Amino acid sequence: MNGRESVLIVLKAAIVALIACTVAAQAEECPRQDALGTSRVLTVDPATYPRVGVQSFPQTLPLEDHEVVLTFDDGPNPPTTSKILAALSRECVRATFFLIGQSAATNPQLVRRIAAEGHTVGHHTWAHADLKKISNAAAIEQIDRGIAADEMALHGKAGSTPTTPFFRFPYFESTPALLDLLQSRGIAVFGADFWASDWNKMTPEQELKLISDRVKAAGKGIVLFHDTKAQTAAMMPDFLRYLRENHYRVVHVVAAAPGKSVQRIP
Ligand SMILES: [Zn+2]
Repeated sequence: MNGRESVLIVLKAAIVALIACTVAAQAEECPRQDALGTSRVLTVDPATYPRVGVQSFPQTLPLEDHEVVLTFDDGPNPPTTSKILAALSRECVRATFFLIGQSAATNPQLVRRIAAEGHTVGHHTWAHADLKKISNAAAIEQIDRGIAADEMALHGKAGSTPTTPFFRFPYFESTPALLDLLQSRGIAVFGADFWASDWNKMTPEQELKLISDRVKAAGKGIVLFHDTKAQTAAMMPDFLRYLRENHYRVVHVVAAAPGKSVQRIP
């Protein structure tokens, strides 16, 4: 056996091992054959997509017809967030959670669970202040303190540079100065294309009807929910079933960070 042959054998063995790993990972990824699943992973580069969501900005993510991105704001909140995580997990669906820093600081284990289950963790300030109504300096402090708390919960290390540079303004209330600042720091600002209006009191059945009608009308887009709302947690299994039965596909957004394991998932 010459050198080239031995290299080939090693390569073949590596390929076989890689295929075995991939199959195992997929099987572990989604044990249910009929689950909705996550159809693809979309890497969002803040340089290309600094601000997305047509409710606030001219641009949104490059989604195909029937593709939706699920986002949840204001958590983590143990009773409702854990229900939503269970519903997403059952359907093998990956979402994005925009966390409030002080809730992350109170519930670090739940933050780590969100990340461990493959979801994206974005940022939503320290205490959900309306950043338009406070000084620029106070607003920056809200942003940085929120990021630091989320990072501390995730990695045990605080810092104002987020692992995932995704941010959403509370109430979608931004200022030009803050938008410029975030852009200069390479942080993508997420608006939404439509939402469940789940800040309004309604039954889970009413919310399901409202959001499924909006999905149908929009055809695709970034959807906003609040994982702090009991009615949202209650209707999430039915909403995911609606998506599956109507042939919608869930796209998982991730940051362009090298070595992030979630990016390898097809
Ligand atoms: Zn919020």
